[in-house]
Amino acid sequence: MIEKRKIQDFFNQQKNLFGNELFFQSAEQINNDLDSVYQLQSSSDKLNQYCDSIALCQECSLGGTRKNFVFGVGDPNAELMLVGEAPGEEDDQEGEPFVGRSGKLLNKILAAIGKNRLEGVYITNVLKCRPPNNRDPLASEVDKCEPYLLKQVGMIKPKLILALGKVAARTLLKTDIPLKEMRGATYDYYGTPLKVTYHPATLLRNPDFKKFAWDDFQWVRDYLIG
Ligand code: URA
Repeated sequence: MIEKRKIQDFFNQQKNLFGNELFFQSAEQINNDLDSVYQLQSSSDKLNQYCDSIALCQECSLGGTRKNFVFGVGDPNAELMLVGEAPGEEDDQEGEPFVGRSGKLLNKILAAIGKNRLEGVYITNVLKCRPPNNRDPLASEVDKCEPYLLKQVGMIKPKLILALGKVAARTLLKTDIPLKEMRGATYDYYGTPLKVTYHPATLLRNPDFKKFAWDDFQWVRDYLIG
Protein backbone atom coordinates (compact mmCIF):
# COMPACT_ATOMS: atom_id res chain seq x y z
CA MET A 1 0.00 0.00 0.00
CA ILE A 2 2.83 2.36 0.91
CA GLU A 3 4.58 1.49 -2.38
CA LYS A 4 1.41 2.30 -4.32
CA ARG A 5 1.16 5.70 -2.60
CA LYS A 6 4.81 6.39 -3.31
CA ILE A 7 4.30 5.66 -7.00
CA GLN A 8 1.18 7.84 -7.12
CA ASP A 9 3.04 10.66 -5.36
CA PHE A 10 5.88 10.34 -7.82
CA PHE A 11 3.62 10.59 -10.87
CA ASN A 12 1.69 13.48 -9.34
CA GLN A 13 4.95 15.29 -8.69
CA GLN A 14 6.08 14.65 -12.30
CA LYS A 15 2.75 15.92 -13.62
CA ASN A 16 3.01 19.09 -11.50
CA LEU A 17 6.52 19.69 -12.78
CA PHE A 18 6.19 18.71 -16.42
CA GLY A 19 2.46 18.74 -17.22
CA ASN A 20 1.07 15.78 -19.09
CA GLU A 21 4.43 14.94 -20.69
CA LEU A 22 6.25 12.47 -18.51
CA PHE A 23 9.87 13.11 -17.71
CA PHE A 24 11.88 10.04 -16.77
CA GLN A 25 14.87 10.14 -14.51
CA SER A 26 17.28 7.46 -13.40
CA ALA A 27 15.99 5.10 -10.69
CA GLU A 28 18.57 6.56 -8.30
CA GLN A 29 17.39 10.11 -8.97
CA ILE A 30 13.75 9.02 -8.51
CA ASN A 31 14.62 7.44 -5.16
CA ASN A 32 16.48 10.57 -4.04
CA ASP A 33 13.56 12.76 -5.07
CA LEU A 34 11.09 10.52 -3.25
CA ASP A 35 13.29 10.60 -0.16
CA SER A 36 13.33 14.39 -0.16
CA VAL A 37 9.53 14.55 -0.68
CA TYR A 38 9.02 12.25 2.33
CA GLN A 39 11.63 14.07 4.43
CA LEU A 40 9.88 17.39 3.76
CA GLN A 41 6.50 15.85 4.52
CA SER A 42 7.69 14.34 7.78
CA SER A 43 9.39 17.58 8.98
CA SER A 44 6.23 19.48 8.17
CA ASP A 45 4.05 16.85 9.90
CA LYS A 46 6.23 17.00 13.02
CA LEU A 47 6.09 20.79 13.16
CA ASN A 48 2.31 20.77 12.60
CA GLN A 49 1.88 18.15 15.32
CA TYR A 50 3.94 20.26 17.69
CA CYS A 51 1.87 23.33 16.83
CA ASP A 52 -1.35 21.40 17.50
CA SER A 53 0.00 20.28 20.87
CA ILE A 54 0.56 23.86 22.11
CA ALA A 55 -2.02 25.89 20.17
CA LEU A 56 -4.47 26.03 23.08
CA CYS A 57 -1.76 27.37 25.42
CA GLN A 58 -3.01 29.24 28.50
CA GLU A 59 0.36 29.61 30.21
CA CYS A 60 0.00 33.40 30.35
CA SER A 61 -2.84 35.90 30.19
CA LEU A 62 -2.38 36.45 26.42
CA GLY A 63 -4.12 33.10 25.96
CA GLY A 64 -7.31 34.84 27.06
CA THR A 65 -7.05 37.83 24.71
CA ARG A 66 -5.65 36.39 21.47
CA LYS A 67 -7.81 35.58 18.45
CA ASN A 68 -5.27 33.10 17.10
CA PHE A 69 -2.17 31.35 18.32
CA VAL A 70 0.45 32.44 15.76
CA PHE A 71 2.92 29.55 15.61
CA GLY A 72 4.95 30.47 12.52
CA VAL A 73 5.05 30.09 8.77
CA GLY A 74 7.48 28.74 6.22
CA ASP A 75 9.80 25.95 5.29
CA PRO A 76 10.12 23.23 7.98
CA ASN A 77 13.72 22.70 6.81
CA ALA A 78 14.56 26.40 6.49
CA GLU A 79 18.18 27.47 6.61
CA LEU A 80 17.13 30.95 7.71
CA MET A 81 14.81 31.57 10.65
CA LEU A 82 13.46 35.09 11.20
CA VAL A 83 12.29 35.90 14.71
CA GLY A 84 10.16 38.96 15.39
CA GLU A 85 8.68 40.24 18.61
CA ALA A 86 5.03 39.17 18.73
CA PRO A 87 2.04 39.02 16.38
CA GLY A 88 0.37 42.33 15.54
CA GLU A 89 -3.35 42.92 15.05
CA GLU A 90 -3.61 41.54 11.50
CA ASP A 91 -1.29 38.62 12.33
CA ASP A 92 -3.52 37.76 15.29
CA GLN A 93 -6.58 37.88 13.05
CA GLU A 94 -5.06 35.70 10.33
CA GLY A 95 -2.98 33.35 12.48
CA GLU A 96 0.19 34.11 10.49
CA PRO A 97 3.17 36.28 11.47
CA PHE A 98 4.10 39.43 9.57
CA VAL A 99 1.07 39.72 7.30
CA GLY A 100 0.60 43.46 7.90
CA ARG A 101 2.50 46.43 6.42
CA SER A 102 5.80 45.48 7.98
CA GLY A 103 5.34 41.93 6.68
CA LYS A 104 4.91 43.23 3.15
CA LEU A 105 8.19 45.10 3.46
CA LEU A 106 9.81 41.97 4.86
CA ASN A 107 8.60 40.00 1.81
CA LYS A 108 10.23 42.58 -0.47
CA ILE A 109 13.53 42.43 1.40
CA LEU A 110 13.48 38.62 1.24
CA ALA A 111 12.78 38.76 -2.50
CA ALA A 112 15.77 41.09 -2.92
CA ILE A 113 18.05 38.33 -1.55
CA GLY A 114 16.32 35.70 -3.69
CA LYS A 115 14.16 34.21 -0.93
CA ASN A 116 10.52 34.06 0.08
CA ARG A 117 8.62 33.17 3.22
CA LEU A 118 7.77 29.66 2.07
CA GLU A 119 11.08 28.36 0.73
CA GLY A 120 14.29 28.23 2.73
CA VAL A 121 12.84 30.64 5.30
CA TYR A 122 10.80 30.19 8.46
CA ILE A 123 9.19 33.17 10.20
CA THR A 124 8.06 33.24 13.80
CA ASN A 125 8.07 35.44 16.90
CA VAL A 126 9.35 35.36 20.46
CA LEU A 127 5.70 35.45 21.62
CA LYS A 128 3.07 33.40 19.83
CA CYS A 129 0.15 35.53 21.00
CA ARG A 130 -0.56 39.22 20.50
CA PRO A 131 -0.01 41.48 23.52
CA PRO A 132 -2.96 43.92 23.87
CA ASN A 133 -2.32 47.19 21.99
CA ASN A 134 0.97 45.73 20.75
CA ARG A 135 2.74 46.52 24.00
CA ASP A 136 6.22 45.04 24.55
CA PRO A 137 6.32 41.43 25.78
CA LEU A 138 6.56 41.03 29.56
CA ALA A 139 9.46 39.02 30.97
CA SER A 140 6.95 36.54 32.45
CA GLU A 141 5.38 36.03 28.99
CA VAL A 142 8.80 35.47 27.40
CA ASP A 143 9.64 32.93 30.12
CA LYS A 144 6.55 30.91 29.23
CA CYS A 145 6.81 31.25 25.45
CA GLU A 146 10.53 31.01 24.70
CA PRO A 147 10.62 27.21 25.20
CA TYR A 148 8.24 26.96 22.20
CA LEU A 149 10.71 28.91 20.09
CA LEU A 150 13.58 26.74 21.29
CA LYS A 151 11.66 23.65 20.28
CA GLN A 152 10.98 25.15 16.83
CA VAL A 153 14.68 25.91 16.43
CA GLY A 154 15.50 22.33 17.44
CA MET A 155 13.08 20.90 14.88
CA ILE A 156 13.91 23.23 11.97
CA LYS A 157 17.66 23.39 12.65
CA PRO A 158 18.28 26.63 10.75
CA LYS A 159 21.80 27.59 9.73
CA LEU A 160 21.14 31.12 10.97
CA ILE A 161 18.60 32.98 13.10
CA LEU A 162 17.95 36.62 12.29
CA ALA A 163 16.36 38.55 15.15
CA LEU A 164 14.17 41.36 13.84
CA GLY A 165 14.38 44.44 16.01
CA LYS A 166 15.51 45.54 19.41
CA VAL A 167 12.84 43.78 21.44
CA ALA A 168 13.35 40.37 19.83
CA ALA A 169 17.14 40.70 20.02
CA ARG A 170 17.20 41.86 23.63
CA THR A 171 14.77 39.21 24.80
CA LEU A 172 16.60 36.39 23.04
CA LEU A 173 20.08 37.53 24.01
CA LYS A 174 19.13 38.78 27.51
CA THR A 175 21.07 42.00 27.04
CA ASP A 176 20.47 45.76 26.97
CA ILE A 177 23.05 46.56 24.29
CA PRO A 178 21.71 49.09 21.73
CA LEU A 179 20.62 47.48 18.46
CA LYS A 180 23.18 49.54 16.53
CA GLU A 181 25.95 47.71 18.40
CA MET A 182 24.32 44.29 18.27
CA ARG A 183 24.14 44.44 14.45
CA GLY A 184 27.89 44.07 14.11
CA ALA A 185 28.19 40.81 16.05
CA THR A 186 27.26 37.18 15.49
CA TYR A 187 25.79 35.64 18.62
CA ASP A 188 25.12 32.09 19.69
CA TYR A 189 21.52 31.19 20.51
CA TYR A 190 21.66 27.77 22.18
CA GLY A 191 24.04 26.50 19.49
CA THR A 192 22.60 28.36 16.48
CA PRO A 193 24.34 31.48 15.10
CA LEU A 194 22.18 34.56 15.55
CA LYS A 195 22.40 37.98 13.87
CA VAL A 196 20.40 41.08 14.61
CA THR A 197 18.87 43.63 12.25
CA TYR A 198 16.22 46.35 12.27
CA HIS A 199 12.56 45.46 12.59
CA PRO A 200 10.68 46.15 9.32
CA ALA A 201 8.28 48.43 11.24
CA THR A 202 11.30 50.54 12.25
CA LEU A 203 12.32 50.70 8.58
CA LEU A 204 8.84 51.94 7.67
CA ARG A 205 9.16 54.70 10.26
CA ASN A 206 12.80 55.50 9.44
CA PRO A 207 13.50 54.86 5.75
CA ASP A 208 17.07 56.13 6.32
CA PHE A 209 17.81 52.87 8.17
CA LYS A 210 16.95 50.78 5.10
CA LYS A 211 20.52 50.94 3.82
CA PHE A 212 21.79 49.39 7.07
CA ALA A 213 19.16 46.65 6.94
CA TRP A 214 20.12 46.00 3.32
CA ASP A 215 23.77 45.56 4.42
CA ASP A 216 22.56 43.04 7.02
CA PHE A 217 20.44 41.06 4.57
CA GLN A 218 23.28 40.95 2.05
CA TRP A 219 25.49 39.60 4.83
CA VAL A 220 22.80 36.96 5.54
CA ARG A 221 22.59 36.00 1.86
CA ASP A 222 26.39 35.59 1.65
CA TYR A 223 26.56 33.68 4.94
CA LEU A 224 23.96 31.19 3.73
CA ILE A 225 25.78 30.67 0.44
CA GLY A 226 29.18 30.21 2.15
N1 URA B 1 4.16 41.00 13.18
C1 URA B 1 4.84 39.96 13.67
O1 URA B 1 4.49 38.81 13.42
N2 URA B 1 5.91 40.20 14.45
C2 URA B 1 6.34 41.42 14.75
O2 URA B 1 7.34 41.57 15.46
C3 URA B 1 5.62 42.50 14.22
C4 URA B 1 4.52 42.27 13.43
